[in-house]
Amino acid sequence: MTSEITYAEVRFKNESTSLGTKSESPAAPKEKTSLHKSNPGFPKALLPSLLILLLLLTISFFIAFIIFFQKYSQLLKEKKAIKEVTHTELECMKENLTMKEKDWSCCPKNWKSFNLSCYFISTDVKNWTKSENNCSAMRSHLLVTKTKAEQDFIIENLDENRAYYVGLSDPEGNGAWQWVDQTPYNASATFWHPGEPNNPLEHCVILNKPSRRSWGWNDVTCEQHHRSICKMMKIYL
Ligand code: CA
Repeated sequence: MTSEITYAEVRFKNESTSLGTKSESPAAPKEKTSLHKSNPGFPKALLPSLLILLLLLTISFFIAFIIFFQKYSQLLKEKKAIKEVTHTELECMKENLTMKEKDWSCCPKNWKSFNLSCYFISTDVKNWTKSENNCSAMRSHLLVTKTKAEQDFIIENLDENRAYYVGLSDPEGNGAWQWVDQTPYNASATFWHPGEPNNPLEHCVILNKPSRRSWGWNDVTCEQHHRSICKMMKIYL
C-alpha cells in the first residue's frame, strides 16, 4: 500500500513538472509574435476612442443596472406589504343577508364577528389606558355596546372568572360617563350591576360576572389590571 501511494504522488509531481518544463513554452512566444504580425495596419489613433467608448458603455450599463435594481426591489417590497396585509390579517365571509350583496365582510384573524362589527377579546391583562392603547394599535377601540343582543353575544365568548375593560369612563369622577368613540352616553341603555356605579374614585368600567349574579358593569379604579374587549367595524372587500 505504501509503495502505491508513494508512486501516485511521485507521478503527479512528474506530470506537473513535465507540463511546466515541456517544450510548449518556447512555442508560446512564437504564437504571440505571429499575432502581432497579423495586425500590422491597426490604426493606433482609434484605440483611445474605443477605450473611451467602452468606458462610457460600461458606465451606462452600471447606471441602468442600478436604476433597474432599485425599482425592482421597491416593487418587491410593495408586493410583500400587500401580501402581509391580505394574508395574515383577514378572514372573510359572504353575507347572505342581502341578496344584492356581493361584498365579502372581513374581520381580522382570531376576532369574533357579529352584525357589522368585529371583536377581539384579550387574554392578557393591562390597566384601562393601556388596554385602550392596545385596541388603538389594532385600529379599533375598547368595546362600546348599546344593545343587549350585542352584549349577550360578547358574554358568550368570555371567561366568567375574569373581568374585561370596556370603553366607558368618567375621567372627572362626576358621573359624566363617556364612550371612547364619542357616542353619547345613554343612561337608559346601560348594564350596570345593581348599586353600580358606586364610587367617584372609580373612573373606568369593567364587564364582569360576580358569583350568583349575571354579567354586568362595575366602575373600578383605572389602574387595575384586567382583560379587555376591542371593537372595530367590519372591513368590506
Ligand atoms: Ca364600583
